[in-house]
Amino acid sequence: MARPDEVRRYNRSTLLRTLHLTGPCTRASLAGELGLNRSTIKTLVDGLAGAGVVAERVPRTQRQAGRPSLLVLPRPEAAVVLAVDVRVGHVALALVGLGGQILGRDGWNLRERTRTPEEVITRLVESAGPLAADLGVRPVACGISVPGVVRRADGHVHEAPNLRWSDVALGSRLTRALDMPVVVGNDAELGALAENLRGRATGAADVVFVSADIGVGGGVIAQSASLRGGAGYLGEIGHMAVHPGGRPCYCGSTGCWETEVGEAAFCRALGLPETSSRGRVVAALRELRADDEGARRRIGDLAEWLTLGLVNVVNLFGPELVVLGDLFTELPAPVLDDVDRAVRARSLVSRALGGVRVRTSALGTDVKLLGAAEAAFEDVLDTV
Ligand SMILES: [Zn+2]
Repeated sequence: MARPDEVRRYNRSTLLRTLHLTGPCTRASLAGELGLNRSTIKTLVDGLAGAGVVAERVPRTQRQAGRPSLLVLPRPEAAVVLAVDVRVGHVALALVGLGGQILGRDGWNLRERTRTPEEVITRLVESAGPLAADLGVRPVACGISVPGVVRRADGHVHEAPNLRWSDVALGSRLTRALDMPVVVGNDAELGALAENLRGRATGAADVVFVSADIGVGGGVIAQSASLRGGAGYLGEIGHMAVHPGGRPCYCGSTGCWETEVGEAAFCRALGLPETSSRGRVVAALRELRADDEGARRRIGDLAEWLTLGLVNVVNLFGPELVVLGDLFTELPAPVLDDVDRAVRARSLVSRALGGVRVRTSALGTDVKLLGAAEAAFEDVLDTV
């Protein structure tokens, strides 16, 4: 049987996690949500308020007669994490407070020369310190998203081909450089986490997040937990071999899904050079919005490859929802509707589940940054 102090600690972190994810709650709704009686909630909230972790106020809508149920609010500055999203062309960092609010952000573009792990780590340390000082906060942990194959236990980046990184001990090097615990995650895995906790897939137990940046990655939430495989390498769905005799892929294989639906494939479909900037690709996609049939003609092949891969993904993982991120969110609406319908019609598992939905992310370009923050918060919420 658990000791009373263990029960109290467990209840405290559960309550904090609820406030962190759902925002301000009344004491009454916390009691209902956590299945605890009101006096236990009062003791917990009083303790957290005394420690400066939460604040309480009278809800604006409840100023009528009678004793109001106080609203409990997380205090963002009570626990702050550093979130970092390393992409091929850009690094974004943010300080995120308890409750998930971005308190401040910074970022810089990466060029060939500045894309080395050494340069990224140095610039990160140089940027994070002044940002925290400006805001008057002190981050207690860091989460960092990397587009590559990451060993979750120690944050070792086995390979991040588009960054040209291999065998980088990023977790231990950043822990030393920043002097705080660091969680390194694959970008799509962290995207899935963000969608599940704060985005389109909130409340869903089984979700697949698929995003197209330069490469294509996937993150899987199964029964409300991130699916990682033994070492954390699961999810390289961009390298599903889907096209016999297809294009060579930098991973050493040919006909990978990514070669048909990644950024280079978007460029080819739009008649742009494969080296076009992201802004140019997005602008060309947006131009197609006024012309449904033109969009279907231009993007038809890419949409068919997208559908084919998603049918495989749905049949493999049986999610209730597939969330598409990054460049996929710019696809014209009729194309997305076609993909959504076709995946439902052609996936056996989708039919068995009563219709898997394919939707686009609503978290925009912050999705991986927010996922990195949540990965960092996982341990922090137990110790605040
Ligand atoms: Zn490949």
